[in-house]
Amino acid sequence: MTQVYQSHPGGFHLTEDVQYLQFNQYSQFPELLHGVFTRQGGCSPEPYKSLNTSTPPFNPGDSIENVVHNRVLALQALDTAQYPCVTLWQVHGADSAIYTAQEEWRTDWANSSYYGQPWTPQSIRKADALITKERGTLLALSFADCVPILLYDPIEQVIALVHGGWRGTARGIIATTLATMEEYSGCKPHNIYAGIGPAIGPCCYEVSEDVRQLFLGQMPFETMPTNEHYRNLINEAAVFSTPTLPNKKSLRLDLQATNRNQLVRAGVTSEHIETMEICTSCNTDRFFSHRKEMGKTGRFPVVMGLL
Ligand SMILES: [Zn+2]
Repeated sequence: MTQVYQSHPGGFHLTEDVQYLQFNQYSQFPELLHGVFTRQGGCSPEPYKSLNTSTPPFNPGDSIENVVHNRVLALQALDTAQYPCVTLWQVHGADSAIYTAQEEWRTDWANSSYYGQPWTPQSIRKADALITKERGTLLALSFADCVPILLYDPIEQVIALVHGGWRGTARGIIATTLATMEEYSGCKPHNIYAGIGPAIGPCCYEVSEDVRQLFLGQMPFETMPTNEHYRNLINEAAVFSTPTLPNKKSLRLDLQATNRNQLVRAGVTSEHIETMEICTSCNTDRFFSHRKEMGKTGRFPVVMGLL
């Protein structure tokens, strides 16, 4: 993992630098650009302090102006503010969306020219993985405990940015995204590299028995049912533990390891998987954590693109 410090440009009065992390293994691919941002260096006030890139109504109290400015700051830190950028309406499902230049997409995730123009904060596309082989358009999603997974197939030159929360992971988002990449452009899992970013760790992620039953298929989701084709893979990949606490037993979910296991069981080689091993809940000075901050927090951005 490489940490990059970036001074922010002028405009808002900011007290910290925008920071982003990068996966070491991706430095071998100069055509691939990515940044996993911390919460630092933005302009949003508490409890969204400060690089919050998720818009109201999900974050009531922060302003659209702050959010868009934070998005611009993130892209400027990557030196990519001139590129169009697409996002998704993240719904905790297992569906992916393929960005192609031929289709109508909003590319204004960080469009600073929205000032004075009609602009809506939300993507109209509902999905939790964004796939493309288009060059020169960035992909962006926002996180606070859910697992960011960055996939790259250097043979077919296809990227995917995945939002792996517990619901999406229980629905097999990794397996379905890899299948979509193969269908879209012939991507073979053994050629694919995967980066697993900061997310809540098993140290902090206590879940209910219902969560385990949904993972194991002992209880169905009421909406967006799990594709039974992936049932065994999802079951085998799930990592739960039951540490004994002073007065009770606790059920913990290891979301990062579960997504890693899904990658391996779907055919991605272990040597191609790099995990940052950062718990967002243990590190709320650097990352937003929905659980630790009891929902009153922002979302940090992850950006990826092929240039
Ligand atoms: Zn933790």
